[in-house]
Amino acid sequence: MNETIQHFIGGREVEGASGRHADVYNPALGQPCARVALASPEDVNAAVAAAHKAFPAWAATPPLARARVLFKYLQLCQQHTDEFAAMVTREHGKTFADAQGEVARGIEVVEFAVGIPQLLKGEFTDQIARGIDAWSMRQPLGVVAGITPFNFPVMVPMWMFPVAIACGNTFVLKPSERDPSASLLHARLLKEAGLPDGVFNVVQGDKAAVDALLDHPDVQALSFVGSTPIAEYIYARGSASGKRVQALGGAKNHMVVMPDADMDMAVDALIGAAYGSAGERCMAISVAVAIGDAGDRLVERLAERTKALKIGEGMSQGAEMGPVVTQAAKQRIEKLIGEGVEQGATLVVDGRGHRVAGFEEGFFVGGTLFDHVQPEMSIYQEEIFGPVLCVVRMPDVGSALELINRNEYGNGVAVFTRDGGVAREFVRQVQVGMVGVNVPLPVPMAFNSFGGWKKSLFGDHHAYGPEGVRFYTRHKAVMQRWPNTASSGVEFAFPQMK
Ligand code: NAD
Repeated sequence: MNETIQHFIGGREVEGASGRHADVYNPALGQPCARVALASPEDVNAAVAAAHKAFPAWAATPPLARARVLFKYLQLCQQHTDEFAAMVTREHGKTFADAQGEVARGIEVVEFAVGIPQLLKGEFTDQIARGIDAWSMRQPLGVVAGITPFNFPVMVPMWMFPVAIACGNTFVLKPSERDPSASLLHARLLKEAGLPDGVFNVVQGDKAAVDALLDHPDVQALSFVGSTPIAEYIYARGSASGKRVQALGGAKNHMVVMPDADMDMAVDALIGAAYGSAGERCMAISVAVAIGDAGDRLVERLAERTKALKIGEGMSQGAEMGPVVTQAAKQRIEKLIGEGVEQGATLVVDGRGHRVAGFEEGFFVGGTLFDHVQPEMSIYQEEIFGPVLCVVRMPDVGSALELINRNEYGNGVAVFTRDGGVAREFVRQVQVGMVGVNVPLPVPMAFNSFGGWKKSLFGDHHAYGPEGVRFYTRHKAVMQRWPNTASSGVEFAFPQMK
């Protein structure tokens, strides 16, 4: 446990000035495996200064040259996939196969970002008036920052910096202090790919680092992904100081199962989407809404499959689900399960007190299934962020839609049915940002954009894809004429086309 995970500022790893550290845990062992430096405002100032200094030259670098650096980085990421994934399994706890999938989804954003010369093309109109042409262009903002959650330590930063950098910005990443190692591997690979020093920086840390970024006058924009209370705080404080902010928050994702659904398909989808990554995904399904007589058939099969989940250390052969991230997370999840019982839900499978042989100190929670959950119960109201699936029973799709549209979150949702008419109306009426029809986790690919509605996203832009390019650039409109065209003389009235 000697390793100290440092900051990366101006092209090199630095210890920082604060002298503060936090332990980084291996959740399967329940033991610290490293420690991470926690930045002071001075460390943040140093990172922003490095990014500010690097900005003019990077912004002036032709988009194709920027894309070539990212192309090299893309190749390096492909070569280092397993190294990234092993870091994620060690510090987050998810299974190695799941971590490999996370890296692959992050790499897709780099594949999108290497197309930046095409994505940045403006529009040109010849002769908007006699001798005058007009065009639009998109320019980078300057120094932009990203603040990311623990649950996707490789992928979520990659939703941000490949697009931001491709657009010509320089970047300061503040990753989660729970699993910070991957941020430094990104930094090393970007440097190896030829990215100039100062274009990508990492400050490790907690609230002190975040607040310093929020208030820094040279930070032009902030992308945040994390829980809703912090997202709301980041959005309010960042926009109050004039920054552009996108802040993606928490979720409570529902999956509606109609009586005509393919039940085997629906059960497979629910088991993967509820318990994959121990439920620690912002697109995890945590509520199954069973319509009519789908309920009994669904719960019977879910119970059998939930009991059979293979839970273990993420590297172990055949593990389908690892531990949750911290002891505090385990305690919180188990407390919520207790509240579900007290408030009258039927506990079909109880994951409390789950132990894995050889990993007795690990932060494991077994798959948990509740039936007959009511909307006023805390297990329905709160984002549990653990392997707990709640079944709510509803008489028809109309009441399911009402329930979902009343929920304060609006990240992802799914409907499982064979009826095209039901699916179509559901898609049109549901107040949620990402919708799946017989697809449980409708996470958009890199060339579309990702984002929820309501308290799942504060701001105007979704992440990555075309929305990401818009977020990380400013639109400029240009109008031009040359002195060899006839002057129209002095005009005091607003000019009109003649
Ligand atoms: P979190 O909100 O606790 O932390 C996110 C980031 O904010 C971290 O970098 C953390 O250091 C920082 N932070 C924490 N407390 C802070 C404070 N008081 N002031 C300033 N900064 C602070 O979230 P988490 O536990 O790391 O991640 C899980 C949450 O993220 C879940 O709610 C999940 O739904 C959400 N999430 C959302 C999406 C999405 O796309 N909407 C994606 C992934 C995760």
